[in-house]
Amino acid sequence: MIVVMEEGASEALVQQVIDRMVEMEFTVHRSTGLVHTVLGGVGPEERIDPQEFEVMEGVKEAHRIMSPYKLASRHFRPGGTVVRVRDVEIGGEEMVLMAGPCSVESKEQIRRCAEVVAEAGGKVIRGGAFKPRSSPYSFQGLGEEGLQMMREAADAHGLLVISEVMDSSQIPLMMRYSDLLQVGARNMQNFNLLRELSKIRKPILLKRGIAATIEELLLSAEYVLSGGNYEVILCERGIRTFESYTRNTMDLSAIPVVHKLSHLPIVADPSHGTGRRDQVIPMARAAVAAGADGLLVEMHPDPDHALSDGAQSLRPEQLIELSRQLQMIAPAVGRKMQPADIMESVAIVGVGLIGGSFGLALREAGFAGPIVGVSSERSIAEGVARGAIDRGVTLEEAAATSSLLYLAQPISKILEVIPKLGGAGSGTLITDAGSTKGMIAERARESKLAAQFLGGHPMAGKESRGQERRKQDYSEAELTS
Ligand code: PEP
Ligand code: MN
Repeated sequence: MIVVMEEGASEALVQQVIDRMVEMEFTVHRSTGLVHTVLGGVGPEERIDPQEFEVMEGVKEAHRIMSPYKLASRHFRPGGTVVRVRDVEIGGEEMVLMAGPCSVESKEQIRRCAEVVAEAGGKVIRGGAFKPRSSPYSFQGLGEEGLQMMREAADAHGLLVISEVMDSSQIPLMMRYSDLLQVGARNMQNFNLLRELSKIRKPILLKRGIAATIEELLLSAEYVLSGGNYEVILCERGIRTFESYTRNTMDLSAIPVVHKLSHLPIVADPSHGTGRRDQVIPMARAAVAAGADGLLVEMHPDPDHALSDGAQSLRPEQLIELSRQLQMIAPAVGRKMQPADIMESVAIVGVGLIGGSFGLALREAGFAGPIVGVSSERSIAEGVARGAIDRGVTLEEAAATSSLLYLAQPISKILEVIPKLGGAGSGTLITDAGSTKGMIAERARESKLAAQFLGGHPMAGKESRGQERRKQDYSEAELTS
């Protein structure tokens, strides 16, 4: 503790402060300057509020030297904390995406959310079963039924579950269904709840209070740590300021500040941080660039009809798009991120030797999504009979509905097809099996497609027998010729 005396404070006043410091078990070092006397105290300052000295007569100001939190401080674990849940690490090299609806509303809603989160490369599905609503008349959540639905949906896609615990009576239920327990902004200083959560062995995601300082957030984390639960993840979710355009003001500076002051991982929630769907993606990008260890994002299959926080919930395709953008941002700041799954639905254009083999190989590798084909009637019939594709479609339908378009045709055909793929959206990847890349890449550039075009590796093979001819059918001599 540093106590600075007023200019000209009498010796009696200085002695009074020294006596008080000694009484509080500080060892006092005095420095008498020309203008001010400064008292340096080494002792139990985490227990003492500097204001106790500031109100004393003759004192100008008093400051702590050390932080008031110990276990949450960076000094406690200079290397940082990695929270591990199954194969997911939060605070490690990977930036972890957590997404889902504000509230679990129905089986179908949460099932679709899990599908989208997994497709976006997310590792955790979020969803409230107990909702802290500002109004008692708003939807309050589905309770245990909601948790059950979310657990099932998560398990179908190998995702972890995070859900909010509002009260210590809900802890046993949460332990059963949820992998991470979220403490909401309104409960950040519910110290009884924090004490109860310090006794369990599941990670806690602690959200910053609506009007909490970073120091208060770290002191709340200290409650959980000091009771023996070291698995704490902090979350910046926006604070209340005089700005009224956004729901809250997303305090991105909290991310590097927390990383400096604490060893605990910090994730960002740009959904509550802004309250507006159109602001979520830019702030999510910025949070990752600022070093966030993860993102907690609200996403809803039909946000216009969501029972809570629809205006700030991304649409499914926006989450996929965000994930794509983060693939570029995360590596720029030394982080990895699980790529979005581009193979949700596949279209093979040209179901011959290469196209047909590709479809069969996808099925052999366990791909369970739809595979459609664009080809001659005969090849479609053969592809369907062999299980390489599910059905034939037009080129327009293939472009509009597939996340991966594979052009397995001769070069002259590929050059004709590329300009017709304008119906493929920015979430689609187009690749090809043509053997000459220059012309094909040039045609893709000229066609100004919304979809991503990535020239594929040319393949070789004998066209002598079409798609019925697979590798195992070739003789050794043919394979090496
Ligand atoms: C939520 O995550 O849906 C939520 C209620 O968040 P917060 O506690 O940050 O308001
Ligand atoms: Mn919400």
